[in-house]
Amino acid sequence: QLRERLQHVATNDTLTGLYNRRVLDDVLAREFARADRNKSRLSFLMLDVDKFKKLNDARGHAFGDQVLKKVAGLLVSMARQSDIVCRYGGEEFLIVLPDCDLERAAAKAEKIRLAIKTQEFGDKNFESIFLSVSIGVACYPDSSDSKLDMIKLADEALYHAKSNGRDQVCVFDMVRNPADVIEALTYTPIGEH
Ligand code: GH3
Ligand code: MG
Ligand code: MG
Repeated sequence: QLRERLQHVATNDTLTGLYNRRVLDDVLAREFARADRNKSRLSFLMLDVDKFKKLNDARGHAFGDQVLKKVAGLLVSMARQSDIVCRYGGEEFLIVLPDCDLERAAAKAEKIRLAIKTQEFGDKNFESIFLSVSIGVACYPDSSDSKLDMIKLADEALYHAKSNGRDQVCVFDMVRNPADVIEALTYTPIGEH
């Protein structure tokens, strides 16, 4: 039991219970191998809470922590058992979707964005607030056949979602514009924003 507890502390974030980024190397090696063997797609969603610093400043860090816990719970509740939900950084989450192509990953991201946008966050002492998130999507091997690039590409798509006004999903799509590697950085905002 103690061994299990120690294992859990090493691999899981204490606030949210999600995997931390230290487990990613192992988990991803396995998932990439599986994708190669089955010729299946492996998608990556990088999600970052919008304007989270403002929330912390207005309502305090403890409230911010509760919000992050709730976001984590929402992400897990929307994930399949085989998906990997990870707290990548402070208010940044990585979701890895085995056997999921770019289009479905984008649709999933959009569903997550809407679920969080319509969720009320609050507790009995405070007025409720609403949040938005930005999500970048990339897919192996559609966005790149370089395994090492995948998180970076999802992150680039996320960066684009942020600079394009936040509260949106952007996709790293090389298939639609394969002619020029630089121009291939085509991002497609999905849905209203
Ligand atoms: P953007 O829309 O550009 O993402 O703006 P932002 O304010 O969310 O981004 P920024 O990176 O400037 O700030 C992130 C904030 O998240 C700052 C940091 O204090 C807060 N944060 C990070 N980890 C935690 C945590 O574990 N608990 C709480 N309460 N806040 C955290
Ligand atoms: Mg943020
Ligand atoms: Mg951030």
